[in-house]
Amino acid sequence: MYDIAIVGAGIAGTYISRELERYDNLKIVLLDGESDVGDEISMANSAIIHAGFDAPSYKLKGKFNAPGCIMYGKVCEDLDVPFKRVPSLVVAHTEEEMMKLHELYLNGLKNGVPDLRIVFEKEVHELEPNLAPDICGALVAGDAGIVSPFELVAKVAENAVDNGVELRLDTLVTGIDNLGDHFKLTTTQGDIEAKFVVNAAGVYADDVYEMVGEPYFEILARKGNYFIFDKEVGDLVKNVIFPCPTKNGKGILVAPTVHGNLLIGPDAAPTWKGDISTTQDKLDWIKANAHKNVPDVANVYNKIIRSYAGTRNTPVKADFTTTDGDFIIEESPVKNFVNFAGYESPGLTSIPAAGLYVVDEIIVPMLEREGYEVKPNPNFNPKNRKHVYFNDLTEEEKIELIKEEPKYGKVICRCETITEGEILDVIHRSAGATTVKGVKKRCRAGMGRCQGGFCQPRVTEILAREQGVPMNEVYYDKKTDSYILNDKTKDIED
Ligand SMILES: Cc1cc2nc3c(=O)[nH]c(=O)nc-3n(C[C@H](O)[C@H](O)[C@H](O)COP(=O)(O)OP(=O)(O)OC[C@H]3O[C@@H](n4cnc5c(N)ncnc54)[C@H](O)[C@@H]3O)c2cc1C
Repeated sequence: MYDIAIVGAGIAGTYISRELERYDNLKIVLLDGESDVGDEISMANSAIIHAGFDAPSYKLKGKFNAPGCIMYGKVCEDLDVPFKRVPSLVVAHTEEEMMKLHELYLNGLKNGVPDLRIVFEKEVHELEPNLAPDICGALVAGDAGIVSPFELVAKVAENAVDNGVELRLDTLVTGIDNLGDHFKLTTTQGDIEAKFVVNAAGVYADDVYEMVGEPYFEILARKGNYFIFDKEVGDLVKNVIFPCPTKNGKGILVAPTVHGNLLIGPDAAPTWKGDISTTQDKLDWIKANAHKNVPDVANVYNKIIRSYAGTRNTPVKADFTTTDGDFIIEESPVKNFVNFAGYESPGLTSIPAAGLYVVDEIIVPMLEREGYEVKPNPNFNPKNRKHVYFNDLTEEEKIELIKEEPKYGKVICRCETITEGEILDVIHRSAGATTVKGVKKRCRAGMGRCQGGFCQPRVTEILAREQGVPMNEVYYDKKTDSYILNDKTKDIED
């Protein structure tokens, strides 16, 4: 019997499990139906660490965004996750938009956003020389940032597992029985019993809650498409550029990524849960609109290396008034069952603050109420082992490393210069990669210009060797339906 079962290993579930490890003697299991952590919403988003001026301060979003953003530096340093403080600029083309920026500025002050100011014509163009000439001002948030969302979830999961969380992937929860003093979760890998459940199931959080309780909220899926550009044009902008927001959302951003690419998107349109296919007319719409703030984007569409889409998990409560699109973070009407739901943007940013809140203000008091004596874990280690980014080393450091481990001398991904040593490292870490996409997410082999055209067969070979399975048992992604090779055509004698 587990003390706590967490359903969903996106950023929410992994982070909550890690925070819970700060307390002693809790047996925690983290479940996900996918073959890797962070394979749904947490993988496909804008990767911006928002400063926190958008959401009204009365919402949980307004409460957690700014502190979450401030906490990111320390969290990413501890977990060794690529993160950069890059200012965000919300730009205005008209006087009316300038008034909106002023509203956002005042709201930001209320939310406790540091380093926030409004700049006018001359200064905004000095800050970002490639902006459209008619832009007359911007709200500048100096504390915003950009992160690698894939590495973030993988590193949070690694730290959670190193501190004692049991991670079970390929374990889809299909039913939950409330047995009074505990829950029985039916999964595709057998039954699991736990005294408490945390529902962090992303876009499926309403379906998971309805396994035990009467529906009181619904999650709507809304898709956003994006383009990623080659690093050759990664410095087209130095800041994260947002248009002035409208009632439909934040609009199309133009931003650098933490690894030096350029990103544009997203749109927002209703879809069905689980849909991460890109949509041509929406991609065309992004292209037709992204240049409005940064005209030169239109000249570099031949540098696009990939498009992708992510699905938002927008919450609606049954009476359409109570959440007002806010996070749902509470012990649910079903006792000992916590919903961490409707956790849409700025969810990635808010997690250090929202994760702390749900653990310290909701879960720990709930455990104590049920007779647990909850004590700090003296062995909790917040830090991960350092990740070697071979390409970032000096020539001397590279030579030293290759002397120590010759596999760092063998480049597997030529576009991103990723070595066999790095691939082996991400396979053998806790919560490590077991699929080709898992390797790609953790060390960028296959993220470059050729998108795995050259290195995917080599990565497949390495995974097969390290897992002791034939190559046709190595999967690209989900281990049920994403095989790369389906059989041998012939044997070749050496
Ligand atoms: C287009 C887009 C752009 C965004 N941009 C930003 C941004 O720039 N900055 C920001 O702060 N936030 C952003 N967000 C929001 C952020 O990405 C989300 O808030 C966050 O990733 C949600 O994480 P999660 O763990 O709740 O959900 P997920 O990552 O989806 O995790 C839920 C997990 O639950 C698992 N699961 C579901 N049902 C079951 C089941 N029955 N059994 C077992 N497992 C199950 C799924 O497999 C999944 O892995 C964006 C989101 C989108 C969609």
